[in-house]
Amino acid sequence: MSQVDLHTHSTASDGELAPAALIEKARALGLSTIALTDHDTVAGIVEARGAAAQAGIEFIPGIEIEIDFEPGEFHLLGYGIDPGSPQLLEATGRLAGARHERNAAILERIAAAGLPLDTAKIVALSRESYIGRPHLADLLVAARCARNRQDAFDRYLGKGRPFYIKKSCLPLEEALSVIRAAGGVAVVAHPYSLFVSKAMLGKFFSLWKEMGVCGIEAYHPTAKYGQCAILERMARERGMFVTAGSDFHGKARPECGLGRTAGNMPIERRFRDELVEALARLSQNRD
Ligand code: AMP
Ligand code: ZN
Ligand code: FE
Ligand code: FE
Repeated sequence: MSQVDLHTHSTASDGELAPAALIEKARALGLSTIALTDHDTVAGIVEARGAAAQAGIEFIPGIEIEIDFEPGEFHLLGYGIDPGSPQLLEATGRLAGARHERNAAILERIAAAGLPLDTAKIVALSRESYIGRPHLADLLVAARCARNRQDAFDRYLGKGRPFYIKKSCLPLEEALSVIRAAGGVAVVAHPYSLFVSKAMLGKFFSLWKEMGVCGIEAYHPTAKYGQCAILERMARERGMFVTAGSDFHGKARPECGLGRTAGNMPIERRFRDELVEALARLSQNRD
């Protein structure tokens, strides 16, 4: 049975593998379809698409947009997007700018606290397109201010810690309109990360559906398989389609193996079929 992956990250955001290397890994594992869903950027899509064509793998261009939300993390996946969409590029450009400003502010706090960071490394880092707290955590580890990434978050960079600065994200309405303008469908990623009760999630699912969210990523390695099956049922009750992903980032997240999802289950091709059907419906409605 052929296996797919609908949620992956490359070096265009915080993944370990370059887009072409990610596709090569997918090929080696025998995956038939892969979607690249880097955080807040489409910079990896052209390379990944070319590599997938070479490797004979079906490629679905995607993005994972962080949405303004409390108390947890809200990530919205966009699939089938045109990476050249002006609205999309304007939004991702703005997010990259905000991210740079935030990193500079965090680095200022670190400097003000007198922690010895390697400035050459910071300059090198700041040239990369997507830098976030995980990279800053690595700098703190390299400077021996923390034992490892997690320790750096626990002491300095996590919510409520001294170097924490809230990130500016898109409101849901805007992210939905950007994905729509780019010709894509919107899917809410790993809903348990929103950190709200199941009853609340049910209310959110209904609201999101009304707002134009088409699907729910019910299966994600950070949740138990049975809990994911509950999300699948909640989505289907509301006429939303269901996806599954690994959220592959590379070695940093060993629990997220490419092509596998909750319960270490292989990601079945039926999830790809539902997504491709939703994209086909969308383009029919547009014509
Ligand atoms: P950023 O987008 O710069 O805010 O970084 C977000 C990323 O930092 C998340 O995707 C996680 O990988 C990581 N992260 C956030 N909070 C924590 C935490 N408390 N402990 C460990 N990693 C975290
Ligand atoms: Zn990530
Ligand atoms: Fe996510
Ligand atoms: Fe992700």
